Amino acid sequence: MRKAFRAAVLHCLADPGESSASSALEYFEDGLLIVENGLVVEAGAATALLPQLADDVSIAEFPGKIIVPGFIDCHVHYPQLDIIASYGEQLLDWLKRYAYPAEARFADEGHANEVADAFLNELLRNGTTTALVFATVHTHSADAIFTAAELRGMRLIAGKVLMDSNCPDELQDTPESSYADSKALIKRWHGKDRLGYAITPRFALTSSAEQLTAAGQLASEYPDVWVHTHLAENKAEVEEVARQFPKSRSYLDVYDHYGLLRERSVFAHCLHMDDTDRSCMAAKGGAAAFCPTSNLFLGSGLFDLRAMRAASVRVGLGTDVGGGTTLSLLRTASEAYKVLHLQDQALPASRALYLATLGAAEALYLDDKVGNFEPGKEADFVVLDPAASSISNRRSRIATSIEESLFAITMLADDRNVAATYVAGKPAAIK
Ligand SMILES: [Zn+2]
Repeated sequence: MRKAFRAAVLHCLADPGESSASSALEYFEDGLLIVENGLVVEAGAATALLPQLADDVSIAEFPGKIIVPGFIDCHVHYPQLDIIASYGEQLLDWLKRYAYPAEARFADEGHANEVADAFLNELLRNGTTTALVFATVHTHSADAIFTAAELRGMRLIAGKVLMDSNCPDELQDTPESSYADSKALIKRWHGKDRLGYAITPRFALTSSAEQLTAAGQLASEYPDVWVHTHLAENKAEVEEVARQFPKSRSYLDVYDHYGLLRERSVFAHCLHMDDTDRSCMAAKGGAAAFCPTSNLFLGSGLFDLRAMRAASVRVGLGTDVGGGTTLSLLRTASEAYKVLHLQDQALPASRALYLATLGAAEALYLDDKVGNFEPGKEADFVVLDPAASSISNRRSRIATSIEESLFAITMLADDRNVAATYVAGKPAAIK
């Protein structure tokens, strides 16, 4: 069944920070997005496309609004939904004081199911249609998020956490159980509908050498699953990794040694790295999740987008809730702008959009499926309302270009600016 959506239509064809804006961005002030069977047929100017449309095609009109691709969150922890905005600690103490107790509650399967539903509803309210998600150490926590995503038809990647040391006993697995349980989850969920599996060691400090070996073994057995972990977030963490892994040249080198750096490996944060690390990550196809609200909130450091992209590392935005302070990728982009401004780097709104859509899809190796409105891609999209709040209404009225209007929405945004979210061409099921 063919359907059409009429509004301003905006999407990225490349990184506007690297290509000329005219070739990286496609914008139709009076645009039409045509979808069929959950896929994009075409996006273009309404004046060009309307005459070709059959009479029985329904057209949903959104005057004054902007249709953009669904947002993609490259790093987030669903079990930490309820500890968002917890006061006062940096990473290692924050884990002990807030994250581990919250994750221990996921021993209760009913709790996991309830939070998974609430979490995905929040993502959809914020226009996020795809995410790379940490569960907890409990196998059923991964089942819970996959079941909830399947129910909503979402493209989502998740994994059970691997951790067997330096954490509370009730949150520990073993090298053997983590291997067997992850393998069973891969067989159950990877490639089912729009779901994908990520081998998910929490970070180098909470896995023994035996567990990292087992994770690398799984990664070599399943080259098309993802690897998802944290890297070089906090200085005290980086120093501790250097103490625990004295033979490794760097933190990244620990993961590389165990076969965990490859295409479809996604590393959250990547703050305290050198050029050798960046070149190595790019050469092996690893990607970085830039999580500005978390990096500021936990006092971790500033992500160097210029250096990462100069080395050709794939980069997408991540919210990193609960270390991050919002599930909105628009608000995350506004903090990214400030993090880069502090380092004399620019982040035009068009490039922020790229980092939340096509760039994120490239980081996750999903750009053949989502990220923009090329024909044949899955029709996940968001209808943005530039005038949803009184202040964004005032500001958008005097904007003279789409770049200015998008920048104002990004800086002022909250979930009111997301008028509607569509998953595979249908209104998102928020249940
Ligand atoms: Zn994280």
